[in-house]
Amino acid sequence: PSDAVILEAPDRRDTVESTARAFIEAYGYQPDGVWSAPGRVNIIGEHVDYQDGLCLPMAISHRCFVAAARTPTDLVRVRSAQSEIVFEGDASQLEPGNVEGWHAYVTGVLWALRPFISGGEQQGVDLYIDGRVPLGSGLSSSASLECATAEALESLLSLDTTPLERVRAAIAAENDFVGASTGGLDQAASVLCSAGQALLLDCRDFSTTPVPWDLAGQGLALLITDTRAEHSHADGQYSARRRDSERAARTLGVKTLRDVEPSGLEDTLAQIDDEVVRRRARHIVTEIQRVRETYELLGAGSVRENVQRLGELLNASHDSLREDYEVTVPALDVAVEAARTAGAHGSRMVGGGFGGSTIALVEADEAQTVAQAIADAFERDGLGSPEFFLALPEDGAGQDL
Ligand code: ADP
Ligand code: MG
Repeated sequence: PSDAVILEAPDRRDTVESTARAFIEAYGYQPDGVWSAPGRVNIIGEHVDYQDGLCLPMAISHRCFVAAARTPTDLVRVRSAQSEIVFEGDASQLEPGNVEGWHAYVTGVLWALRPFISGGEQQGVDLYIDGRVPLGSGLSSSASLECATAEALESLLSLDTTPLERVRAAIAAENDFVGASTGGLDQAASVLCSAGQALLLDCRDFSTTPVPWDLAGQGLALLITDTRAEHSHADGQYSARRRDSERAARTLGVKTLRDVEPSGLEDTLAQIDDEVVRRRARHIVTEIQRVRETYELLGAGSVRENVQRLGELLNASHDSLREDYEVTVPALDVAVEAARTAGAHGSRMVGGGFGGSTIALVEADEAQTVAQAIADAFERDGLGSPEFFLALPEDGAGQDL
Protein backbone atom coordinates (compact mmCIF):
# COMPACT_ATOMS: atom_id res chain seq x y z
CA PRO A 1 0.00 0.00 0.00
CA SER A 2 1.26 3.49 -0.86
CA ASP A 3 1.98 6.14 1.77
CA ALA A 4 -0.52 8.96 1.98
CA VAL A 5 1.12 12.39 1.79
CA ILE A 6 -0.60 15.54 3.03
CA LEU A 7 0.55 18.10 0.47
CA GLU A 8 1.23 21.76 1.14
CA ALA A 9 -0.18 24.47 -1.10
CA PRO A 10 2.45 26.09 -3.34
CA ASP A 11 4.36 28.84 -1.54
CA ARG A 12 2.53 32.10 -2.12
CA ARG A 13 5.49 34.44 -2.48
CA ASP A 14 7.28 32.04 -4.85
CA THR A 15 4.19 31.73 -7.02
CA VAL A 16 3.64 35.50 -7.13
CA GLU A 17 7.20 35.89 -8.39
CA SER A 18 7.07 33.02 -10.86
CA THR A 19 3.79 34.36 -12.28
CA ALA A 20 5.36 37.80 -12.77
CA ARG A 21 8.35 36.18 -14.49
CA ALA A 22 6.08 34.11 -16.74
CA PHE A 23 4.27 37.32 -17.72
CA ILE A 24 7.57 38.91 -18.77
CA GLU A 25 8.48 35.80 -20.75
CA ALA A 26 5.11 35.75 -22.49
CA TYR A 27 4.69 39.46 -23.29
CA GLY A 28 8.21 40.88 -23.16
CA TYR A 29 7.63 43.57 -20.56
CA GLN A 30 6.95 44.01 -16.81
CA PRO A 31 3.41 43.48 -15.46
CA ASP A 32 1.77 46.33 -13.54
CA GLY A 33 1.06 43.93 -10.67
CA VAL A 34 0.07 40.45 -9.49
CA TRP A 35 -3.33 39.68 -7.98
CA SER A 36 -4.69 36.45 -6.51
CA ALA A 37 -7.87 34.87 -5.21
CA PRO A 38 -8.33 31.66 -3.21
CA GLY A 39 -10.31 28.49 -3.69
CA ARG A 40 -12.66 27.60 -0.86
CA VAL A 41 -14.09 24.83 1.20
CA ASN A 42 -17.59 25.16 2.48
CA ILE A 43 -17.62 23.90 6.06
CA ILE A 44 -21.37 23.38 5.87
CA GLY A 45 -24.34 24.58 3.81
CA GLU A 46 -24.10 22.72 0.48
CA HIS A 47 -26.49 23.14 -2.45
CA VAL A 48 -28.42 25.89 -0.68
CA ASP A 49 -26.94 29.06 -2.25
CA TYR A 50 -29.36 29.09 -5.19
CA GLN A 51 -32.30 28.86 -2.77
CA ASP A 52 -31.25 31.94 -0.75
CA GLY A 53 -29.72 29.71 1.94
CA LEU A 54 -26.97 30.15 4.51
CA CYS A 55 -23.50 28.68 4.15
CA LEU A 56 -20.23 28.72 6.04
CA PRO A 57 -17.24 28.82 3.67
CA MET A 58 -13.57 29.53 4.33
CA ALA A 59 -10.81 30.44 1.88
CA ILE A 60 -8.02 27.86 1.45
CA SER A 61 -4.30 28.30 0.79
CA HIS A 62 -4.60 27.25 -2.85
CA ARG A 63 -5.00 30.35 -5.01
CA CYS A 64 -5.17 31.53 -8.59
CA PHE A 65 -2.54 34.16 -9.48
CA VAL A 66 -2.89 36.74 -12.24
CA ALA A 67 -0.01 38.92 -13.43
CA ALA A 68 -1.42 41.70 -15.57
CA ALA A 69 -0.85 45.03 -17.26
CA ARG A 70 -2.98 47.63 -18.99
CA THR A 71 -2.13 48.37 -22.63
CA PRO A 72 -2.90 51.52 -24.67
CA THR A 73 -5.15 49.53 -27.03
CA ASP A 74 -8.45 47.65 -26.94
CA LEU A 75 -6.75 44.26 -27.29
CA VAL A 76 -7.19 41.60 -24.59
CA ARG A 77 -4.60 38.83 -24.39
CA VAL A 78 -4.89 35.91 -21.96
CA ARG A 79 -2.45 33.10 -21.27
CA SER A 80 -2.35 30.47 -18.52
CA ALA A 81 0.29 28.15 -17.13
CA GLN A 82 -2.43 25.46 -17.21
CA SER A 83 -3.21 25.67 -20.92
CA GLU A 84 -1.44 26.04 -24.26
CA ILE A 85 -4.38 27.88 -25.75
CA VAL A 86 -3.90 31.64 -26.04
CA PHE A 87 -6.71 34.17 -26.31
CA GLU A 88 -6.48 37.40 -28.28
CA GLY A 89 -9.49 39.56 -29.02
CA ASP A 90 -10.99 43.03 -28.86
CA ALA A 91 -12.47 43.99 -25.49
CA SER A 92 -15.38 45.75 -27.19
CA GLN A 93 -16.30 42.58 -29.11
CA LEU A 94 -16.78 40.34 -26.05
CA GLU A 95 -20.29 38.87 -25.98
CA PRO A 96 -21.71 35.71 -24.37
CA GLY A 97 -21.25 32.81 -26.73
CA ASN A 98 -18.31 34.19 -28.72
CA VAL A 99 -15.48 33.07 -26.42
CA GLU A 100 -14.72 29.34 -26.29
CA GLY A 101 -13.29 27.24 -23.48
CA TRP A 102 -11.59 28.39 -20.31
CA HIS A 103 -10.90 31.92 -21.57
CA ALA A 104 -14.58 32.67 -21.08
CA TYR A 105 -14.06 32.61 -17.29
CA VAL A 106 -11.57 35.47 -17.69
CA THR A 107 -13.02 37.55 -20.53
CA GLY A 108 -16.48 37.09 -19.00
CA VAL A 109 -15.33 39.10 -15.99
CA LEU A 110 -14.21 41.98 -18.21
CA TRP A 111 -17.55 41.78 -20.02
CA ALA A 112 -19.46 41.79 -16.69
CA LEU A 113 -17.48 44.78 -15.39
CA ARG A 114 -18.28 46.91 -18.46
CA PRO A 115 -20.91 49.03 -16.69
CA PHE A 116 -18.12 50.28 -14.41
CA ILE A 117 -15.77 51.32 -17.22
CA SER A 118 -16.12 54.95 -18.29
CA GLY A 119 -17.44 55.30 -21.82
CA GLY A 120 -14.90 55.48 -24.63
CA GLU A 121 -12.00 54.18 -22.53
CA GLN A 122 -9.69 51.59 -24.02
CA GLN A 123 -9.96 48.29 -22.14
CA GLY A 124 -6.87 46.52 -23.42
CA VAL A 125 -5.11 44.26 -20.90
CA ASP A 126 -2.51 41.50 -20.97
CA LEU A 127 -3.08 38.72 -18.43
CA TYR A 128 -0.93 35.78 -17.40
CA ILE A 129 -2.65 33.27 -15.11
CA ASP A 130 -1.25 30.56 -12.87
CA GLY A 131 -4.15 28.71 -11.27
CA ARG A 132 -2.96 26.64 -8.30
CA VAL A 133 -6.38 25.53 -7.09
CA PRO A 134 -6.70 21.98 -8.42
CA LEU A 135 -8.95 22.27 -11.50
CA GLY A 136 -12.38 20.67 -11.31
CA SER A 137 -11.83 19.36 -7.78
CA GLY A 138 -14.78 21.00 -6.06
CA LEU A 139 -12.42 23.53 -4.44
CA SER A 140 -13.57 26.21 -6.87
CA SER A 141 -10.77 26.85 -9.31
CA SER A 142 -13.35 28.58 -11.51
CA ALA A 143 -14.28 31.20 -8.90
CA SER A 144 -10.63 31.75 -7.98
CA LEU A 145 -9.89 32.45 -11.66
CA GLU A 146 -12.81 34.86 -12.01
CA CYS A 147 -12.18 36.65 -8.74
CA ALA A 148 -8.43 37.08 -9.28
CA THR A 149 -9.25 38.52 -12.69
CA ALA A 150 -11.81 40.89 -11.16
CA GLU A 151 -9.22 42.17 -8.66
CA ALA A 152 -6.70 42.75 -11.45
CA LEU A 153 -9.21 44.62 -13.62
CA GLU A 154 -10.42 46.70 -10.66
CA SER A 155 -6.88 48.03 -10.20
CA LEU A 156 -5.76 48.22 -13.82
CA LEU A 157 -8.88 49.95 -15.12
CA SER A 158 -9.42 52.03 -11.90
CA LEU A 159 -13.00 50.78 -11.68
CA ASP A 160 -13.98 51.78 -8.15
CA THR A 161 -16.19 48.71 -7.60
CA THR A 162 -17.13 47.39 -4.17
CA PRO A 163 -16.14 43.83 -3.20
CA LEU A 164 -19.79 42.83 -3.59
CA GLU A 165 -19.90 44.29 -7.11
CA ARG A 166 -16.86 42.20 -7.98
CA VAL A 167 -18.58 39.12 -6.53
CA ARG A 168 -21.59 39.83 -8.73
CA ALA A 169 -19.41 40.38 -11.81
CA ALA A 170 -17.66 37.04 -11.19
CA ILE A 171 -21.03 35.30 -10.83
CA ALA A 172 -22.31 36.97 -14.02
CA ALA A 173 -19.18 35.81 -15.84
CA GLU A 174 -19.81 32.19 -14.86
CA ASN A 175 -23.62 32.22 -15.25
CA ASP A 176 -24.12 34.45 -18.27
CA PHE A 177 -20.81 34.32 -20.16
CA VAL A 178 -19.47 30.80 -19.49
CA GLY A 179 -23.02 29.46 -19.17
CA ALA A 180 -22.55 27.48 -15.94
CA SER A 181 -25.45 28.09 -13.56
CA THR A 182 -23.59 28.26 -10.24
CA GLY A 183 -25.22 29.81 -7.21
CA GLY A 184 -22.75 32.43 -5.95
CA LEU A 185 -21.26 30.83 -2.86
CA ASP A 186 -17.89 30.22 -4.55
CA GLN A 187 -17.36 33.76 -5.79
CA ALA A 188 -18.57 35.32 -2.52
CA ALA A 189 -16.20 33.11 -0.54
CA SER A 190 -13.22 33.84 -2.81
CA VAL A 191 -13.66 37.62 -2.49
CA LEU A 192 -15.08 38.08 1.02
CA CYS A 193 -13.31 35.51 3.24
CA SER A 194 -10.52 36.63 5.54
CA ALA A 195 -7.56 34.88 7.12
CA GLY A 196 -8.12 32.91 10.31
CA GLN A 197 -11.89 32.95 9.95
CA ALA A 198 -14.83 31.24 8.38
CA LEU A 199 -17.67 33.32 6.99
CA LEU A 200 -21.39 33.01 7.58
CA LEU A 201 -22.76 33.89 4.17
CA ASP A 202 -26.42 34.73 3.68
CA CYS A 203 -27.07 34.07 0.01
CA ARG A 204 -30.27 36.14 0.07
CA ASP A 205 -28.24 39.34 -0.06
CA PHE A 206 -24.63 38.11 0.28
CA SER A 207 -24.37 39.72 3.69
CA THR A 208 -21.59 38.17 5.76
CA THR A 209 -20.62 37.64 9.38
CA PRO A 210 -17.09 36.50 10.30
CA VAL A 211 -16.92 33.37 12.43
CA PRO A 212 -13.87 32.40 14.53
CA TRP A 213 -12.23 29.29 13.03
CA ASP A 214 -8.88 28.68 14.66
CA LEU A 215 -8.47 24.93 14.39
CA ALA A 216 -4.68 24.82 14.63
CA GLY A 217 -4.73 26.60 17.99
CA GLN A 218 -7.09 23.92 19.32
CA GLY A 219 -5.17 20.86 18.14
CA LEU A 220 -7.69 20.23 15.36
CA ALA A 221 -7.45 20.19 11.57
CA LEU A 222 -9.71 20.12 8.54
CA LEU A 223 -8.38 17.52 6.12
CA ILE A 224 -9.27 17.97 2.45
CA THR A 225 -9.36 14.89 0.24
CA ASP A 226 -9.39 15.62 -3.49
CA THR A 227 -10.81 12.33 -4.74
CA ARG A 228 -9.79 13.23 -8.31
CA ALA A 229 -12.97 11.51 -9.42
CA GLU A 230 -14.20 13.07 -12.64
CA HIS A 231 -17.27 15.32 -12.47
CA SER A 232 -19.19 13.22 -14.99
CA HIS A 233 -22.60 14.67 -15.99
CA ALA A 234 -22.18 17.26 -13.24
CA ASP A 235 -23.59 20.19 -15.26
CA GLY A 236 -26.82 18.48 -16.27
CA GLN A 237 -27.36 17.07 -12.79
CA TYR A 238 -26.68 20.44 -11.21
CA SER A 239 -29.30 22.12 -13.39
CA ALA A 240 -31.75 19.31 -12.62
CA ARG A 241 -31.29 19.88 -8.86
CA ARG A 242 -31.89 23.60 -9.31
CA ARG A 243 -35.07 22.92 -11.28
CA ASP A 244 -36.32 20.45 -8.63
CA SER A 245 -35.71 22.98 -5.87
CA GLU A 246 -37.54 25.71 -7.83
CA ARG A 247 -40.46 23.34 -8.37
CA ALA A 248 -40.58 22.60 -4.64
CA ALA A 249 -40.60 26.33 -3.80
CA ARG A 250 -43.45 26.96 -6.27
CA THR A 251 -45.51 24.10 -4.85
CA LEU A 252 -45.01 25.35 -1.30
CA GLY A 253 -45.88 28.91 -2.33
CA VAL A 254 -42.58 30.46 -1.22
CA LYS A 255 -40.09 32.57 -3.17
CA THR A 256 -37.27 30.23 -2.18
CA LEU A 257 -36.91 27.28 0.19
CA ARG A 258 -35.15 29.59 2.65
CA ASP A 259 -38.66 30.74 3.57
CA VAL A 260 -39.82 27.26 4.64
CA GLU A 261 -40.19 26.89 8.43
CA PRO A 262 -38.04 23.96 9.62
CA SER A 263 -40.53 23.06 12.36
CA GLY A 264 -43.23 20.63 11.20
CA LEU A 265 -41.22 20.08 8.04
CA GLU A 266 -42.64 16.65 7.15
CA ASP A 267 -46.21 18.02 7.22
CA THR A 268 -45.15 20.89 4.97
CA LEU A 269 -43.36 18.55 2.57
CA ALA A 270 -46.47 16.36 2.32
CA GLN A 271 -47.87 19.04 -0.02
CA ILE A 272 -45.30 17.96 -2.63
CA ASP A 273 -46.59 14.98 -4.62
CA ASP A 274 -43.35 14.05 -6.35
CA GLU A 275 -41.32 11.93 -3.94
CA VAL A 276 -37.99 13.00 -5.50
CA VAL A 277 -38.79 16.72 -5.37
CA ARG A 278 -39.90 16.25 -1.75
CA ARG A 279 -36.50 14.81 -0.83
CA ARG A 280 -34.68 17.62 -2.66
CA ALA A 281 -36.62 20.17 -0.62
CA ARG A 282 -35.95 18.28 2.60
CA HIS A 283 -32.20 18.48 1.98
CA ILE A 284 -32.25 22.23 1.43
CA VAL A 285 -34.43 23.10 4.43
CA THR A 286 -32.58 20.79 6.84
CA GLU A 287 -29.17 21.90 5.52
CA ILE A 288 -29.96 25.57 6.16
CA GLN A 289 -31.01 24.54 9.67
CA ARG A 290 -27.69 22.72 10.16
CA VAL A 291 -25.82 25.89 9.16
CA ARG A 292 -27.82 27.87 11.72
CA GLU A 293 -26.98 25.37 14.43
CA THR A 294 -23.29 25.33 13.45
CA TYR A 295 -23.18 29.11 13.54
CA GLU A 296 -24.83 29.20 16.97
CA LEU A 297 -22.42 26.60 18.35
CA LEU A 298 -19.42 28.55 17.08
CA GLY A 299 -20.79 31.70 18.68
CA ALA A 300 -21.31 29.93 22.00
CA GLY A 301 -17.90 28.26 22.27
CA SER A 302 -14.80 27.07 20.48
CA VAL A 303 -14.71 24.32 17.86
CA ARG A 304 -12.96 22.16 20.48
CA GLU A 305 -15.76 22.62 23.02
CA ASN A 306 -18.37 21.67 20.41
CA VAL A 307 -16.35 19.21 18.37
CA GLN A 308 -18.65 16.24 18.80
CA ARG A 309 -21.84 18.05 17.76
CA LEU A 310 -20.06 19.88 14.92
CA GLY A 311 -18.87 16.52 13.63
CA GLU A 312 -22.42 15.16 13.78
CA LEU A 313 -23.64 18.14 11.76
CA LEU A 314 -21.00 17.53 9.07
CA ASN A 315 -22.01 13.88 8.94
CA ALA A 316 -25.70 14.74 8.73
CA SER A 317 -24.95 17.17 5.88
CA HIS A 318 -23.19 14.48 3.87
CA ASP A 319 -25.86 11.88 4.56
CA SER A 320 -28.54 14.31 3.38
CA LEU A 321 -26.53 15.07 0.20
CA ARG A 322 -26.24 11.32 -0.40
CA GLU A 323 -29.79 10.21 0.46
CA ASP A 324 -32.06 13.16 -0.26
CA TYR A 325 -30.10 15.24 -2.76
CA GLU A 326 -28.29 12.35 -4.49
CA VAL A 327 -25.20 14.30 -5.56
CA THR A 328 -22.53 11.96 -4.16
CA VAL A 329 -20.58 9.28 -6.04
CA PRO A 330 -18.75 6.22 -4.65
CA ALA A 331 -15.43 8.07 -4.32
CA LEU A 332 -17.03 10.75 -2.12
CA ASP A 333 -18.90 8.22 0.01
CA VAL A 334 -15.84 5.99 0.42
CA ALA A 335 -13.63 8.95 1.48
CA VAL A 336 -16.23 10.09 4.01
CA GLU A 337 -16.84 6.60 5.38
CA ALA A 338 -13.13 5.82 5.70
CA ALA A 339 -12.53 9.12 7.52
CA ARG A 340 -15.31 8.45 10.00
CA THR A 341 -14.13 4.91 10.66
CA ALA A 342 -10.56 6.14 11.20
CA GLY A 343 -11.72 8.51 13.94
CA ALA A 344 -12.65 11.78 12.25
CA HIS A 345 -15.18 13.79 14.27
CA GLY A 346 -17.18 14.29 11.08
CA SER A 347 -16.78 14.26 7.33
CA ARG A 348 -18.70 15.41 4.25
CA MET A 349 -18.36 16.13 0.56
CA VAL A 350 -17.84 19.77 -0.49
CA GLY A 351 -18.80 21.57 -3.68
CA GLY A 352 -21.35 20.54 -6.26
CA GLY A 353 -20.75 16.80 -5.95
CA PHE A 354 -20.51 14.06 -8.62
CA GLY A 355 -16.77 14.01 -7.91
CA GLY A 356 -14.49 16.56 -6.31
CA SER A 357 -13.43 16.78 -2.68
CA THR A 358 -14.39 15.95 0.89
CA ILE A 359 -13.44 17.48 4.23
CA ALA A 360 -12.91 15.72 7.55
CA LEU A 361 -12.72 17.39 10.96
CA VAL A 362 -9.91 15.56 12.74
CA GLU A 363 -7.54 15.77 15.67
CA ALA A 364 -4.44 17.44 14.21
CA ASP A 365 -2.22 14.55 15.29
CA GLU A 366 -4.55 12.05 13.61
CA ALA A 367 -4.71 13.78 10.19
CA GLN A 368 -2.04 11.47 8.78
CA THR A 369 -3.80 8.34 10.06
CA VAL A 370 -7.10 9.45 8.58
CA ALA A 371 -5.48 10.32 5.24
CA GLN A 372 -3.83 6.88 5.17
CA ALA A 373 -7.15 5.18 5.91
CA ILE A 374 -8.77 7.04 2.99
CA ALA A 375 -5.88 6.20 0.65
CA ASP A 376 -6.10 2.52 1.69
CA ALA A 377 -9.87 2.45 1.09
CA PHE A 378 -9.34 3.97 -2.37
CA GLU A 379 -6.73 1.37 -3.20
CA ARG A 380 -9.00 -1.43 -1.94
CA ASP A 381 -11.91 -0.20 -4.09
CA GLY A 382 -9.82 0.64 -7.17
CA LEU A 383 -10.69 4.35 -6.91
CA GLY A 384 -7.23 5.68 -7.78
CA SER A 385 -4.99 7.97 -5.75
CA PRO A 386 -6.60 10.85 -3.86
CA GLU A 387 -4.67 13.97 -2.87
CA PHE A 388 -4.66 15.40 0.64
CA PHE A 389 -4.34 18.97 1.92
CA LEU A 390 -5.11 20.82 5.12
CA ALA A 391 -7.71 23.58 4.90
CA LEU A 392 -6.03 26.57 6.54
CA PRO A 393 -8.18 29.72 6.53
CA GLU A 394 -6.47 32.23 4.23
CA ASP A 395 -7.42 35.71 3.05
CA GLY A 396 -9.73 36.52 0.17
CA ALA A 397 -8.93 38.08 -3.20
CA GLY A 398 -6.46 40.95 -3.36
CA GLN A 399 -3.25 42.36 -4.77
CA ASP A 400 0.00 40.50 -4.04
CA LEU A 401 2.55 42.64 -5.88
P1 ADP B 1 -14.00 23.82 -9.83
O1 ADP B 1 -14.45 25.24 -9.80
O2 ADP B 1 -14.58 23.00 -8.71
O3 ADP B 1 -12.52 23.67 -9.88
P2 ADP B 1 -15.30 23.93 -12.38
O4 ADP B 1 -15.76 22.88 -13.33
O5 ADP B 1 -16.28 24.92 -11.89
O6 ADP B 1 -14.59 23.17 -11.17
O7 ADP B 1 -14.13 24.76 -13.04
C1 ADP B 1 -13.03 24.12 -13.66
C2 ADP B 1 -12.77 24.75 -15.00
O8 ADP B 1 -12.28 26.09 -14.81
C3 ADP B 1 -11.68 24.08 -15.79
O9 ADP B 1 -12.18 23.01 -16.54
C4 ADP B 1 -11.19 25.22 -16.67
O10 ADP B 1 -12.06 25.40 -17.77
C5 ADP B 1 -11.34 26.41 -15.80
N1 ADP B 1 -10.10 26.86 -15.14
C6 ADP B 1 -9.96 27.09 -13.81
N2 ADP B 1 -8.70 27.52 -13.53
C7 ADP B 1 -8.04 27.58 -14.72
C8 ADP B 1 -6.72 27.95 -15.11
N3 ADP B 1 -5.81 28.36 -14.23
N4 ADP B 1 -6.39 27.86 -16.43
C9 ADP B 1 -7.28 27.45 -17.32
N5 ADP B 1 -8.54 27.10 -17.01
C10 ADP B 1 -8.93 27.14 -15.74
MG1 MG C 1 -16.41 25.97 -10.11
